[in-house]
Amino acid sequence: MFDRLSSLVAALTLVAIAVIFAALAGGDALSIIILALAGIIGTAIVYNALPSVLPEPKGPAPAEAPPVSLIRHPDFALWVDQEEEPLIGVAGNVVTIANDAAVRLLGRHIVGADIRTAIRHPAATEWLARIGEGAALDTLNLFDFPRPGQRWTMRVATLSGSDRIIFLSDRSAIDAADRMRSDFVANASHELRTPLAAVLGYVETLQDMNGEADGPTRHRFLSIIAREAGRMQQLVIDLLSISRVEADRFRRPTTPVDLAAIVRHTVAGLRDSEDKRPNDIVTKLPEDPQPMLGDEAQLGQLVHNVVSNAMKYGRAGTPVTVELVREGRRVRLSVSDEGDGIAPDHLPRLTERFYRVDEARSRSVGGTGLGLAIVKHISERHQGQLDIDSEVGKGTKVSVTFPIADVGRTAA
Ligand code: ADP
Repeated sequence: MFDRLSSLVAALTLVAIAVIFAALAGGDALSIIILALAGIIGTAIVYNALPSVLPEPKGPAPAEAPPVSLIRHPDFALWVDQEEEPLIGVAGNVVTIANDAAVRLLGRHIVGADIRTAIRHPAATEWLARIGEGAALDTLNLFDFPRPGQRWTMRVATLSGSDRIIFLSDRSAIDAADRMRSDFVANASHELRTPLAAVLGYVETLQDMNGEADGPTRHRFLSIIAREAGRMQQLVIDLLSISRVEADRFRRPTTPVDLAAIVRHTVAGLRDSEDKRPNDIVTKLPEDPQPMLGDEAQLGQLVHNVVSNAMKYGRAGTPVTVELVREGRRVRLSVSDEGDGIAPDHLPRLTERFYRVDEARSRSVGGTGLGLAIVKHISERHQGQLDIDSEVGKGTKVSVTFPIADVGRTAA
């Protein structure tokens, strides 16, 4: 609190005050002299004992400690390497650390390089220059980075001094999903617009004829209207199915079902509704149940879509064979037809929504282009494996294998 000199002055002042009070209180001269001497000698002893410079408190004052660099801290290196997205630590403009994801994206050479050259994108270069000016920066979109059609975002966290962390994030998958969604809406609208235009056109023609159309003409027009309305109805049914199946995608089915019974029941329904070739469906099903955990309605729809495709695209008079075979802990459903088959180029795309090999053919047989997309989703939800084998000019075999349920455990 006091330095050495002011402590001395303060002590002598106290001695003087004590002497004055003693004199005023009527003390004898000897006592006052002894008091004054004792005070002065005591003060001198203490003054002597004090170091000439009082020691500073030990350790640096917290406020004055030099800042510890976060990006050079060993824990920072541990953390960044656990991050899946690219992270870069920058001091000034120099990259001091880059995690594995950043190295994979930008190359190993970026450590030690200037950040403005490490991320080669014009918008990034301009943005990074503005960091130095202390401007507040929003997240930046890097279009066509690192390859055309891709999009990444970039943002910065500013630390003490000129240290910064740069975060890069891949948004390409989100963009692709957005594109798929808008393509889907556009395709669905297009699919509905075509039959709707036909319905409106024929209704208008009948109205213009003012009841003067002869019987056969009216019958023909009304049949076309009914067919096109039916096409729209089927499309709406398939659209609702696909959205329901997609909504259930991550909910594993928990109900024990018998796949053999589902196949038998669905095939019987198809035979009943098939007016042209009901006898072409041949089944090879085991007698005993094939237990699995499933959604009965969805599995019925899967069987229906695959068998009706074989009926639509197989040659009339040739068999459509529906078979169930146990393969260890799995059961394989396969549906084979004898038809034109599918060229190998098309096979990987068949389960895309609205993908058709021959659009006119699909429309003429009442296809919506959604059947196999629905099959794929139902199969995935049931942990199924979907395979399509085809030979042009010979025919197609679509098969799905499902895991068999442990009957004892399911029943419990
Ligand atoms: P669609 O309603 O048009 O039949 P799908 O999604 O069920 O739609 O099938 C997609 C396309 O795959 C069909 O348009 C057709 O070109 C082809 N395809 C599906 N199954 C068969 C098959 N069994 N034989 C030949 N081509 C098929």
